[in-house]
Amino acid sequence: MEYVLIAIGILVVLLIAGIGLLTSRGRRTTRLDDDAAAGTTLTRPRPPAPTEEPAPTGATASGLGLPPETVEAPEVELPPVEPEPGLLLETPPPSAGRLVRLRSRLARSQSSLGRGLLTVLAREKLTEDDWEELEETLLAADVGVAATSQIVERLRTQSMVLATASGAELRELLIDNLTAVLGPDLDRTLGTDRHEGRPGVLLVVGVNGAGKTTTVGKIARVLVGDGKSVVLGAADTFRAAAADQLETWGERVGVLTVRGREGGDPASVAFEAVRTGIEGEADTVVIDTAGRLHTKAGLMDELGKVKRVAEKQAPITEVLLVLDATTGQNGVVQARVFTEAVDVTGVVLTKLDGTAKGGIVVSVQRELGIPVKLVGLGEGPDDLAPFEPRAFAEALVGEG
Ligand code: GDP
Repeated sequence: MEYVLIAIGILVVLLIAGIGLLTSRGRRTTRLDDDAAAGTTLTRPRPPAPTEEPAPTGATASGLGLPPETVEAPEVELPPVEPEPGLLLETPPPSAGRLVRLRSRLARSQSSLGRGLLTVLAREKLTEDDWEELEETLLAADVGVAATSQIVERLRTQSMVLATASGAELRELLIDNLTAVLGPDLDRTLGTDRHEGRPGVLLVVGVNGAGKTTTVGKIARVLVGDGKSVVLGAADTFRAAAADQLETWGERVGVLTVRGREGGDPASVAFEAVRTGIEGEADTVVIDTAGRLHTKAGLMDELGKVKRVAEKQAPITEVLLVLDATTGQNGVVQARVFTEAVDVTGVVLTKLDGTAKGGIVVSVQRELGIPVKLVGLGEGPDDLAPFEPRAFAEALVGEG
C-alpha cells in the first residue's frame, strides 16, 4: 500500500513538473523579479531554455515539487543564434547602397523638381525668365532661399564659362551644385559602435506621428543587416501600442525589447534597456521615447531625465531627431523644442516618398545646423537608408 502511495506521489510530481515546463515554454515575456515592482519587463523573441530544476522525487506531501511561484530571474542574454522552431527570423539587407536601391521612391520630388529643372536646362539659350523659373522650381521644392540663390548663381556662372554647355553638362553641374548645398563633408556616421566595453546608445526623439517608433524598428533592422547585435528600449510608456509595435519589429529580427508598464517611468525603461545591453554585450541599444508636445518644460524635463538616467549605465552616443518631411517648415519649428531639450546629433527625415518637396533636406540641415543621417522612403520595413548627398542629388534630378 505504502509503495502504491509513493508511486502515485511520484506520478503527481512528474505531471505537475511537466505542466510547469510547458507553460514556461509558451511564455514570451519574462518579468524580471527586481523590476516587477517598477513594471519593467524584458521581452524575448524566444523564450529561454527552461531552467527549473526537476522536481525532487520522494518529496513530502507538503512539498510535492510544485513549480515555485516566482522563477529566478534568468541571466540577461542575447537571443541564441538558432531561432525558436516555427519563428523564422528575417534577414534585412545591409545599409550600404540602400539609397540607390530606393531612389525610385523619390518619384514625387523627382517629377516636380528634377523634371522641372531639366526642362529648363534643355532649352537652347537660357533667358532671364528661364533662370527665374529655375529658381522658382527650387524654392517650390523647399530648397530654401539661401541655398537656391547659391545653386542658381553658380550654375549661371558655370554656364557662361562653358559657353556651349549642353543639357547633359548642365545636368551634371546641377547635381554638383545640389550636392554642395547638401553638405557632402558633414559627418553622418551613426554612433552605434561599442565604446569602452559598453554598447553604443541611440536615443530617438520627435513628435508623435513623425514616424519615430517605425524608425526605431527600421534602425534595428539596418543594424542587424550590418551584423550588429541590438537591444531596443520602449521608453514611450504613454502608449502601450508603441511598445507593442516595437516588440513586433524586434521579434522579426531576433532583437530583445525592454518595455515598461503603461504610464510607467520612461527613464527606468531606458536605464533597464542599457543595462540589458551591457550585460548581453550588445553592440547597440536603441531607445524610443514619447513625443507628446504637452508643455515645452515638461518635454524637456522628461527627455533630460531619460538621458541622465540612461547615462548612469553608458554614455548616449547618438541622439536622433525624427522629422516628417511632409510637414515642411512647420515640422522644423517643432523640432527646435527637441534640439533645446537634448543635444541632437542627427536628423532622420521620414516620409520623403510622400512629398514633392525633397529639397526639405537642405532647409532642415541649414535651419537646425544638424546633419540628416537617415532618410525614410516608405512604409516597408527596410525603407530606411543612410543619407548620401550625391546619390540623393542624382535621384532628385533623375536621368533627364
Ligand atoms: P510615431 O508616433 O512618431 O512613433 O510614428 P509611427 O512610427 O507610429 O508612424 C506613423 C506613421 O508614419 C505610420 O503609419 C508609419 O508607417 C508611417 N511612416 C513612418 N515612416 C515612413 C516613411 O518613411 N514613409 C511613409 N510613407 N510612411 C512612413
